[in-house]
Amino acid sequence: MIENCLDAKSTSIQVIVKEGGLKFIQVQDNGCGIRKEDLDIVCERFTTSKLQKFEDLASISTYGFRGEALASISHVAHVTVTTKTADAKCAFRATYSDGKIKAPPKPCAGNQGTQITVEDLFYNVITRRKALKNPNEEYAKIVEVVSRYAIHNSGISFSVKKQGDTMSDVRTLSNASTVDNIRSIFGNAVSRELIEVGCEDANLAFKMKGYITNANYSVKKCIFLLFINHRLVESAAMRKAIETVYAAYLPKGTHPFLYLSLEIAPQNVDVNVHPTKHEVHFLHEDSILERVQQHVESKLLGSNSSRMYFTQTLLPGADCSSSEVVKPAANSSVVTKGTGDKVYAHQMVRTDSREQKLDAFVQPVNNPLSSGPIEVTTEVNAGPSEGTDRPQDAEMEEVRDLVEMADVQEDTMKSGGPSKSGHLSPETVLSRKRPREDMDMELEKEDDNRKDMTAACTPRRRIINLTSVLTLQEEISNQAHAKLQEMLHDHSFVGCVSPQWALAQYQTKLYLLNTTNLSQELFYQILIYDFANFGVLRLSEPAPLYELSMLALEDPESGWTEEDGPKEGLAEYIVEFLKNKTEMLKDYFSLEIDEDGNLTGLPLLIDNYIPPLEGLPMFILRLATEVNWDEEKECFESLSKELAMFYSIRKQYIIEESNLTNSQNEDSESGSTTWKWTVEHVLYKAFRTHLLPPKHFAEDGNILQLANLPDLYKVFERC
Ligand code: ADP
Ligand code: MG
Repeated sequence: MIENCLDAKSTSIQVIVKEGGLKFIQVQDNGCGIRKEDLDIVCERFTTSKLQKFEDLASISTYGFRGEALASISHVAHVTVTTKTADAKCAFRATYSDGKIKAPPKPCAGNQGTQITVEDLFYNVITRRKALKNPNEEYAKIVEVVSRYAIHNSGISFSVKKQGDTMSDVRTLSNASTVDNIRSIFGNAVSRELIEVGCEDANLAFKMKGYITNANYSVKKCIFLLFINHRLVESAAMRKAIETVYAAYLPKGTHPFLYLSLEIAPQNVDVNVHPTKHEVHFLHEDSILERVQQHVESKLLGSNSSRMYFTQTLLPGADCSSSEVVKPAANSSVVTKGTGDKVYAHQMVRTDSREQKLDAFVQPVNNPLSSGPIEVTTEVNAGPSEGTDRPQDAEMEEVRDLVEMADVQEDTMKSGGPSKSGHLSPETVLSRKRPREDMDMELEKEDDNRKDMTAACTPRRRIINLTSVLTLQEEISNQAHAKLQEMLHDHSFVGCVSPQWALAQYQTKLYLLNTTNLSQELFYQILIYDFANFGVLRLSEPAPLYELSMLALEDPESGWTEEDGPKEGLAEYIVEFLKNKTEMLKDYFSLEIDEDGNLTGLPLLIDNYIPPLEGLPMFILRLATEVNWDEEKECFESLSKELAMFYSIRKQYIIEESNLTNSQNEDSESGSTTWKWTVEHVLYKAFRTHLLPPKHFAEDGNILQLANLPDLYKVFERC
């Protein structure tokens, strides 16, 4: 009924109530009035004066446009309308029941405008009547609604009183401002702490304005006046969103006062969520809420600096958000979002990707990836470790024997430059994107500096100008996904799910990452970017290619069939074939094969990482069979892919390894902790700075967002 008065352009609306409205409600306005001819039908369903033609539906700006309010009221109460238009000689009065006028309108005295009385509400619907609270509570609700409309409609005077009372319980004047109205209804304590807010976004098709209290004001229960398209509504999502912002500023368990008026393109608002249309949903709700949150937060922060004399509350987000960009500390890895977005207090999480964990310094004694028989040391003459025979199945044992012989040693002589991943600063890695000359110069300089310390054996970085390699590098950097890179750069490692999967947090999001595929891509990129500049992991005992090939052919995975000819012949062929390539393999890939057809060295791609040697036989087989040896670019590419696959951390090896360890039971520590240590402190550390994640990782499930803190809040809220 109040909305009808507003639609009729009234400037004064008076409400009189008896018994909380159960007995009697009268709403009187000074609007345009209803013409006598229309009085017959005003209470008929779907009778409305507000749609002239069908197209009006889209641009309708009045509250009601379906002619349902008066009709439905007349079905549950006795309705009397007294009304006078400007040009009528006198007023007319009519009473209604069940949508119908009871008798022809009677002329009577009256001012311009309309007075509608509703008596004996729900006299004919006992259950509805019983559902209403006691008269005092109902009256309080009426006062609440009228006062909220009064605040929203400054320029129009409102009053509410109980019948018979001389004093109104709410009274606003037509010349009062919004703040005046808030003051007269909610008191001075609220009105003097108000901040005016207002923002809009053309893309999201919304405007917002209103008044909110600053951090000095708080109440036990949130007072939230929300109007969407000038209709008083509820929006639990909006309430929550704003309260989240305030939670950082107000004492625990206290709340703000908020009056917000949103205008949203009507076609984007869904008013049909709730029968009374009080609860609404709207399109782009999340984005709009976020904009409102940001705006509210920025205003709260602003009020803190401009009204210091009121403020005692310490604002947690104040210093961080006061400048546009969070300044990265020198050398730190903080990268602010390129968009210059502010980080608001409610978006902050207590993690720092630069923080080191203690166990990063406590490297497991065993080779991270190869507990058991494969012992890796950097000392030249270190022998195999104790307890070397841990039989599982015959085949595995054979591999183990083989690689045990091939006790791997890092060739410290040659591992200069990029293999010293631990010492590479992020800057150097970002330089991947710079022209090669810069990078080479820089690295050479670095090497020069190192000269003093390492005396004679200073390796110089070789400059690679092969078009094929440069093209492959370009392909990698063209594929890079900047956001993912930022995420990997600044992630906080959460933990390993399995050898293949790990969890990492970035800002408020939790991600599941495919370590196997990420590490494979990492090694591929290192192979391409540091082409021909690797250190060597030297095997202390040469591993015969022939036996490795035989092992691989016996593995059903190789797909060998009788038709391929005898295995021995194939193995011999593989040895001869690879022997012919030794020069290139050694020169470009640090893959060393001696004259007798033994593998003696593997490339050192990142420090503290030995490839899972169980994959060696298959790698040798694939090296001979899967690599395209004819075209230069394809050759480097496919060879690097094979190497990368061999180097990547793989599930099956780790599982077998930990089975072994468990059965041994001696150092049950190493089985799981070593690979976990390696994943966290070697691989994920390298991902930060060495990996340019390709775009497809974001789509093919290799990097999956599992949870987002704000969304989790929403879930908890429902519980
Ligand atoms: P709606 O507002 O959806 O058109 P209602 O049932 O609320 O339907 O009202 C029916 C019609 O009665 C309105 O379209 C309007 O023409 C008239 N009316 C109701 N209340 C008033 C009022 N206070 N002043 C002038 N006209 C009114
Ligand atoms: Mg209406």
